[in-house]
Amino acid sequence: MYPPQDYKLVAMSGSIRIDVEYNQGIHLLDSILWLDAPRQTDLCFVSHAHIDPAGHHRKILATGATAALIHRRIGRGEYLTTPFHRRFSLGKLDLELHPAGHMLGSAQIRITRDGGTLVYTGDFQLGPTRTARTATVLECDVLVMRSTYGRPHQVFPDREETEAKMVSWAKRTIQDGDQPVVFASARGKAQELASIFLAHDLRVRVHKSIYQVCRSYRALGMPLANIRCFRLSPKKAEVIIFPPHLRQSKTIAKLKRARTCVATGRALDETNDWADAAFIISGHADHPALLRYARESGAKRIRLTGPTAAPLAAELTAAGFDASPLQPSEQMGLF
Ligand SMILES: [Zn+2]
Repeated sequence: MYPPQDYKLVAMSGSIRIDVEYNQGIHLLDSILWLDAPRQTDLCFVSHAHIDPAGHHRKILATGATAALIHRRIGRGEYLTTPFHRRFSLGKLDLELHPAGHMLGSAQIRITRDGGTLVYTGDFQLGPTRTARTATVLECDVLVMRSTYGRPHQVFPDREETEAKMVSWAKRTIQDGDQPVVFASARGKAQELASIFLAHDLRVRVHKSIYQVCRSYRALGMPLANIRCFRLSPKKAEVIIFPPHLRQSKTIAKLKRARTCVATGRALDETNDWADAAFIISGHADHPALLRYARESGAKRIRLTGPTAAPLAAELTAAGFDASPLQPSEQMGLF
């Protein structure tokens, strides 16, 4: 059988003495540290609360916010938490977490050993958001970067303008006597969108799965006051936010005069015919931001993960970078 089950993609070139391998998860070579690994490990850095630590790691390294959000969901686990920008040692490793801009608590990790520095971004974006700390580009020798929108056409429109368009869509819908219904994933995106509407004096009512996460956000100090939990009959002048998998539910079907929208980076490539409007608002870096990170990090070696790892690696290689996908991209479905 080829490749064998324990097939490892290891590349060690030049004099850089820190690197990762892919072995059913990203592993920092010569250490016990794994990065967002979907398998059981002794110690795993979990970059943010979308990651499902189904592998029941013996210990999870994360920010306090990520640990709290995961713990509320799965109710178990042993955590090693650290605030952003505080350097600490673990054996021979010097570690530091930095904001990733993806959702509340989301972090990149910078690892230094033997004078070499490796950065793992996890899901990230570089622009400002309302519910996550803004990410910056971290300098490193080896960059392990997650590439979700890494194809050249995947360029997001200006965030402020898109927010303004979405808010005016909601206000217009209410003025017309209709009910704005927004579909967004319950963890992270829904809270970000709710913050946008609240900042523009709109009232927001959310599905209970979203409400629970909003309560966790509030407990972690994120001001998400005045969000109400959806019950049988919402008031007309409210923006309703539901998770996308409930778009064909009876509750949505019963809403009178609903006008629907989605807000996602995927709206770049999907038609979303089922919704009345689509706005490109994403918690991920787009193609220009990924190129910017590759360039400004100063990395001598770039390892890419995520759904567009292969095309972005090919593009960076053609531009003169030492870049490669870290593992077969179809395996990233596990993430
Ligand atoms: Zn994510």
